[in-house]
Amino acid sequence: MDEIVDEVLRLEGPGVPLNEMKCFQCSSNLGMAESVAYRCRDCDTSAIWCRQCMVNSHRVCYLHRPEEPYFRRTTFKDLGVRIQLGHPPGEECWHKVKSIGDDFVIIDIDGVHNVSLDYCDCAGSPTPLQQLLRARLFPATTLDPNTAATFKVLETFQMLSFTAKTSAYEFMQVISRRTDNTGMRHVRDRYHEFLRIIRVWRHVRLLKRGGRGHADAGASGTQPGELAVLCPACPQPGVNMPDGWEQETRLSQVDFESRWLHALFIGIDANFRLRRKDVSDDVRDPGFNKGFAYMVEEVAFKNFIRKYGRPLLDANGKSVLQPDKSNCSNHDAIKSASARGGRGLAATGLANAQCSRHDMRRPTSCGDLQLGERYVNMDYVVLDTLRRNIPRMVTMSYDIGCQWFPGLGERSDIYEGPNPIKGSVDLLLQCLVPKFHLPAHIMKCQVQYSFNLTPGVGRTDGEAPERGWADSNDLAYSTREMGPGSRRDTVDDSFGHWNWAKVTEIIISLASRSTEAIIRRKEQVEAFEHFADALPRANIVAWTKQVQDFKQGRATKNPYEPDGEVKSETEIRLQLAKEDGDLIKYGNTDMVHPSVSPSVFIYQGLEIEDAQRRFEWERTRLGSHGSTLEKAKNLERGNNVRRRFEAWEKLQLLYMPTVIAHRQAQEDEGKAVVEDAGDLKLWLPSAALKTLKVPPGRRLIRYIRSTLLIQAHMRVQKEQYGHGTKYMTRSNQLLADVATRLSNLKKKYDIIRGCIEVLSSNLESTPGSKKGTDEWRSVLRVLEPEDLKGLTSSLTGKHKTGDGFLKLTWIWTVSGSGQESDDAALRIEFCRTRARAHRWQEESLMLNEELARVYCFFGWDAMRWEDRAREYMSRMVAPLIYTDRNHRSSVILNMGKVAYAHRQAAIRRQMEKDAYAKWQALMPKLTKLHVSKDKKTKDSKAGDAELRELDAKVLYECA
Ligand SMILES: [Zn+2]
Ligand SMILES: [Zn+2]
Ligand SMILES: [Zn+2]
Ligand SMILES: [Zn+2]
Ligand SMILES: [Zn+2]
Repeated sequence: MDEIVDEVLRLEGPGVPLNEMKCFQCSSNLGMAESVAYRCRDCDTSAIWCRQCMVNSHRVCYLHRPEEPYFRRTTFKDLGVRIQLGHPPGEECWHKVKSIGDDFVIIDIDGVHNVSLDYCDCAGSPTPLQQLLRARLFPATTLDPNTAATFKVLETFQMLSFTAKTSAYEFMQVISRRTDNTGMRHVRDRYHEFLRIIRVWRHVRLLKRGGRGHADAGASGTQPGELAVLCPACPQPGVNMPDGWEQETRLSQVDFESRWLHALFIGIDANFRLRRKDVSDDVRDPGFNKGFAYMVEEVAFKNFIRKYGRPLLDANGKSVLQPDKSNCSNHDAIKSASARGGRGLAATGLANAQCSRHDMRRPTSCGDLQLGERYVNMDYVVLDTLRRNIPRMVTMSYDIGCQWFPGLGERSDIYEGPNPIKGSVDLLLQCLVPKFHLPAHIMKCQVQYSFNLTPGVGRTDGEAPERGWADSNDLAYSTREMGPGSRRDTVDDSFGHWNWAKVTEIIISLASRSTEAIIRRKEQVEAFEHFADALPRANIVAWTKQVQDFKQGRATKNPYEPDGEVKSETEIRLQLAKEDGDLIKYGNTDMVHPSVSPSVFIYQGLEIEDAQRRFEWERTRLGSHGSTLEKAKNLERGNNVRRRFEAWEKLQLLYMPTVIAHRQAQEDEGKAVVEDAGDLKLWLPSAALKTLKVPPGRRLIRYIRSTLLIQAHMRVQKEQYGHGTKYMTRSNQLLADVATRLSNLKKKYDIIRGCIEVLSSNLESTPGSKKGTDEWRSVLRVLEPEDLKGLTSSLTGKHKTGDGFLKLTWIWTVSGSGQESDDAALRIEFCRTRARAHRWQEESLMLNEELARVYCFFGWDAMRWEDRAREYMSRMVAPLIYTDRNHRSSVILNMGKVAYAHRQAAIRRQMEKDAYAKWQALMPKLTKLHVSKDKKTKDSKAGDAELRELDAKVLYECA
C-alpha cells in the first residue's frame, strides 16, 4: 500500500532530477528555468515539454489540460493558444474572425474549458455552425454561439442517462467538479446550455438512425412511429413474414387456430411512476418528436382525450365509455388508489402497449395519463399502435383485461375517424390477463383469461410491461420536473435505447428460450402421456372432445372449471368413513379360512397393526370430550381389533411357531392380560414376509390418491367459501383428520414396500433365480413426503403461477389412476396437463417462427440501408471539374451518407448471418414435435388413431 501511495506521489513531481530536466521534443534544457517546463494531464505520457513544444504537440487535441511547473493546472488559452476552425491544424486563417466576445466555452468530458476560438471567413467558407460541427463541437445556439459541447461528452452523457439514469444536472456537477474541485477557480455554469444541446443532439441522432438524413423529405417528412426501433421478432407484413401467410390466415377461417403462428402479442399497462409535474406547457416546450417514435402525437391525443375523456352517458345515466363498476374482483379500487396524489401533476403516469413476447416498445404506443387509468387513454395508445404495420391477429394482455376488453369494440365504434378495429372483419383480437396478475381474479376469469389455457399463445406470460417498467422507473426521477416536450423526447430516447439493447440481444435470447422450450416440451408432453396412459381410455376420449368443443364454441360447459358441486363436510366425512369401512372389510376377509396363504396372513397382520393405530389415534382425539356414542364406537373398534387379533394369533401359531416362546415369556412376567387393544403385540418379523405380493400396495396408492383429492377439494373450498370462525374451525379439524389419515396411509405403504424390498432382495441373491423380479419397483416406488401432492390443477394461490413447469408426482401416473370417485378433479387435471403440453409445443413452433422472422427482418433492414447507400453512391460521383462550390460540398456530404449507410447495412448483415445460423441449428429440434418412444408404438392401435384425430392439430400436424 505504501508503495502505491509513494508511486502516486512520485507522479506529482517532474520524474527526473532538476538538472536532467529536458524538453521531450526539442531536448532544450529546462532545469535551470523551471518556469517553462510543462506537462499534460490527458496525454498518455508524463513527458515534459517546453512551452512551444507543448503548444505545438497539442494542435489536434486542444482540450487537453496542461500543467505548469509544480504542476498547477493551466489552460491553453492562458498559454496563448487560439483554436482555428475551418483550416487544418496548425494553419492560421488569413481572414479569421473571433467568436462572439472572444469568449467561448467548450464542455468536454474532463471539464468546462475557456478557449479562444476563431472562425474562418475566407471566401465561400462554411457557416460558423458548420465549422463547429465539422470540428465535432455541438453549439448551444445556431446564431452566434458562445458555448458548445464535444460529441464525446454528449455520447458519454447519453449512455449514462440510459444506463445509470444520470440527469443532466448531476452530470454537469461532475464535469464542473472535474474542472476545479477547490472552489478557487470560477467554473462557468453551462447547465442550461447543456440541456439545450442534449435535446437537439438526441433528436439529431434519432433522425440520423431512422434514415431521415437519407430521405429527400428530411425530418419534416417523418411518418408517425417511423423512428422507433422495430422488434425484429414480431410479425410485420411485408417485412419478415413468410410468403403466403395471408393464405394461411384466410378470411374465412375465423378461428384463432389457423392464425396463431402469425399473431402479434401486445402487453398493455399503465405506469404511475413516470409522472410529470405541472411545469411549463406545450407552447413553451413543444418538443421535437411529434409522434415519430414511441410517444403518441400530442395534439391529436389531447383532442381525443378532451372529446371522449368526459363521461358520455346513455339514456339511463350510465357511462358509455367506462363502466362504473367492475364485475370481477375489485380492480377499480386498486387502480384509483394508484391514481391518487394527482395534485400539481400534469401527467399522473404513462399508458403503454408494448410487444409482450420480446419486451420491446412499439411505435406510437405511449401516452400520458391524466386521471388514473382511464379506458379512453388506454384505448388511444392501443388503437394508435395498432395502426402501425400489424398482422391479422393480435393477442393483447392487460391486468384488467376482463373489464377493459369486452367493451373495446363498442367504444371504438363511438370514436370518430378510422381506427384499425372499427369495421374490420380482417382483424382478430383477443385479450388475456397476464399470468402473475390472474390469481387476483375471480374463478371465471382465471379460466377465460388464462394464458395457460388459451390455445395458440405458447408460453407468453403477458408480463412484459412490468419488466419494461422496472427499467424506466429509474427514468422517473429525471423526467418528473421536465417540460412536456423535453419529457416526451427524453422518454422516447430512453425507450429507443431500451429497444436497441433488446435488438442486439434478440438472437441470444430467442436461442436460450428455444433450448429451454425443447427440454420443457419433452418433460411436459411425457408427463401428459403418462398421465393419460394411467387413465381409462373412455375418459380421455370424452374429455378431449369436451375441451375441443369448448374451444371451438360448440359447447358452453367449461371442462377446466370445477363442476360447481360443493361437497358438504358431512359428505366428505361419509366418503372417508366408507373408505375406512372398505379397508376394514378387506382386512376381515378370509380371516380364519383354512387355506389362508402366507401372504394373506402377513397382510392381515399389517392390517391389524393399522387398525390399532387408527383406534389409538381416534381415542386420543376423542379425549374426554367425545360424545357417549362416539366413545362407544371407539370401544367397539377396539373390540373388533381384539377379535381380529385373536383369530390371527391362531394362524400365527401355524406360520410362526417360534413366536410362542415370546408370548410365553410375557405371560411369565404377568403381562398376559392386555387390557388395551392398542397394546396387543403382533411380533411380526419382516423376514417372514416372503411371499407378499404387489396388490396391497397398489390398493394403498389408490386410497392415497383419493385422500389427496379430498384434501385438495377441502383446500379450494376453504379458500373460496371459507368465512366465519365456526366454519374455519370445523374445516380445519377435518383437514387435520385428512392429513393424519394421509400420514397413516404413508406409514402403512412404507412398511409394505419395505417388506417387499427385503423379500425381493432375498430372492435376487438366490443363485439361479429369474431376473425381472424387479418389476414391482416401477409400480410401488419409494413414497417421499413430497410425492404426497394433489393434482396440479388443485394448487391454489401463488403455486398456480408457475403452471408451465408443474409436474405430477408419480402416484398419479402409475396405472390404475382414474378409478377414483372424483372425476371432475381428474378431468380438470387431464385438461390442464394437456394444455401444458400444448403450450410448450406451441412455444417451440413460435420460437422457430420468431427466429425465422428475426433472420428475415435483419435482411430487410440491411436491404433498406443498402438501397440508401446505392442511392447516394450515384449522387457521389465527382465530375472532373466542379461547376460550383455547392456541388463539391454535396458530393462530400453524400460520401458521408454512403459511408453511414454501408456501416448500418454491414451491422444488419452480420446480425442476419448470426440469426440464420442459430435458426438453422435449432429448427430441426423446434419443429420436430416431441412424441415419446412408447407412444409411437402404441399409435398404431386403432383407439389411438381416433384420439389423435380428436386431439388438437397443434400437437401433431403443424410439423
Ligand atoms: Zn521543446
Ligand atoms: Zn495532451
Ligand atoms: Zn480561412
Ligand atoms: Zn416483439
Ligand atoms: Zn377478472
